[in-house]
Formats: sequence, structure tokens, C-alpha cells
Amino acid sequence: MNCKICKTKNISKDAIVNLPAYNLSLCKDHFIEWFERRIENTIKEFHMFTKKDKILVAVSGGKDSLGLWFVLNKLGYNADGLHIDLGIYDYSQKSREIIEKFSKTINRKLYIIDLKKEIRAIPEIKEKLPKKPTCSICGTIKRYYMNKATKEYGYNILATAHNLDDEISVLFGNTLNWNIEYLSRQYPVLMEYKDAFVRKVKPYFKVTEKESAIYTFLNGIKYIEEECPFSKGAVSLKYKEILGIIEGQFPGTKIKFFNNFLKKLYPLISNKSEEKEIKRCKICNEPSSLDICAVCNIKMKLNI
Ligand code: SF4
Ligand code: ZN
Ligand code: ZN
Repeated sequence: MNCKICKTKNISKDAIVNLPAYNLSLCKDHFIEWFERRIENTIKEFHMFTKKDKILVAVSGGKDSLGLWFVLNKLGYNADGLHIDLGIYDYSQKSREIIEKFSKTINRKLYIIDLKKEIRAIPEIKEKLPKKPTCSICGTIKRYYMNKATKEYGYNILATAHNLDDEISVLFGNTLNWNIEYLSRQYPVLMEYKDAFVRKVKPYFKVTEKESAIYTFLNGIKYIEEECPFSKGAVSLKYKEILGIIEGQFPGTKIKFFNNFLKKLYPLISNKSEEKEIKRCKICNEPSSLDICAVCNIKMKLNI
């Protein structure tokens, strides 16, 4: 198959990527160009940030986060990296090494928060608090430190690399359960709130995991290929599989599912204008709906 864009210029070049959702087949250069334009347009359409903002990218060492860090810098944004070392056996060690090398390659600052020093490594927390789902504890801890670090290090934007597959698997789960509360907060931009929360953005929310992987691969970026050992059996992976089957039969379903949610349902259920009072954790002073925040609560249970 020939590249569609090359064809319009009367050049015959083999396509290396086929994108049925957009009825497009592209050569390497035109795929990279298409992908980068898509990210740039998403940033602009959703007013995520400008070239003047100081952005911190949450990097796990996977294909999405390293690709996002790379593309933001290539597009001229001021983006440094933040990695939370979760202390999950070899997986965390390898991820950290890859990220450290990568930050030197792109010559950007990298901040590392070591959970072993801040609280405990995730496997140890799991052992001490066996009743709580590991991913839920891990997610709470990551969100806490990402928000806190972004403020403390002097950045105003936190960018995460959630892709379209991540977003629609959450959307699917929330829709199956009609979880309106969660649906009302599922937006690619969460605005900053006073000095409590930084702005959180997802510039990859319109690209699929496959498109993101191809972009990272074509740019020769080395990433951690293993999945976190605690991700096995996650419901979200099942949802991704099911949605992948539907996409295979009806290309374009994934992007339509999310775009239509944003256009048709989200405006009806979001309550943007609501002024909420921000409570602070009595121990760490970070924002919290309870007197003691979830992270300080975990620390207390661990006798830290
Ligand atoms: Fe944390 Fe679970 Fe993700 Fe592993 S899979 S990094 S434990 S949230
Ligand atoms: Zn081409
Ligand atoms: Zn606290």
C-alpha cells in the first residue's frame, strides 16, 4: 500500500502504518508529521498550555510517557520530567535507569521521588495493608506526590500520558456502572484550583496505544517493555481487549466514543462553576476532603 500523502505529491512510497479509523496509510515521515500535528492540535483545542508554561511530565518509563516527553520538547514546549520510583522489584529499577538515560539524551531536567524514602516501596505497603487493592493505593500515592512535586518544584502544569485506550477503558467502566460522579470529572484538562491543585492535562488522549507505540518506536526511543507485575488481571485490561475487538470490526469507534462523550454528555454533567471550599490535611497541609489525607493515613497505618 502507498502513502496517501506522498501520493498527492505524485510520489510513490510504501506506507508503513495503516490507520483504518482515519482511512489513512502513511510512510514513516508522514506518520510522524501526522502524530505531532495531532498532539499540537489537541493542546491548542483544549487550551492545555502554551510555550510560556512550565510543564512537568509524569514519566513511568513506558512508551507513552517517554514519547510524550520527547514530542513536547520537539514541539518547543518547556517540559521537564518527574518519575516516581515505586520500588517494585526489577521493574522499577529498570524503568528508572531507562528514564535517567533518556533525560540525558534530550537534555532535560529529571526529578525522582523515591517512595522507599518517602513512605515505603509498593510491595512492602501491599504486604502491610493486604486488604487494600494495590493499584488503588499506588494511584493515590502517585497523584499526591505528582501534584505536590509540581507545585514545590515551581511548575504550573502536570502532563500525563494517558492515551485514548486508557481513557475509553475508564469511560467504558464508568458508563457500565453509570458512575456519574466519576464521569463528571473525566476531562482531558483538570484546571488548577487556588494554590491546592495544579493544572493536569492529557495531551495524548486522542491517540491510541498503538499510534503512541509506533511514534516512540520510529523515534528510536528505548522504553520499558514489561508491564508492572501488579497490573495482571486488571479489569481495565479486559475492557481494552473488548473495545479493541469492537474497533477491529468498526474502525473509528474508539475516538467517536470519547469525542461524543466530551461533546454530548460531559457538558450536561460537569459542574465547572461550583466554588468548592478546600480543606487541608492537618498533618501535611496538602488538599484533602478529610481531616487527614489519604497518604498521611497510609503512613499512620504503617507507623511512619
Ligand atoms: Fe501502580 Fe498498579 Fe500501575 Fe503497578 S499497575 S504502577 S501497582 S497502579
Ligand atoms: Zn509519505
Ligand atoms: Zn496529609
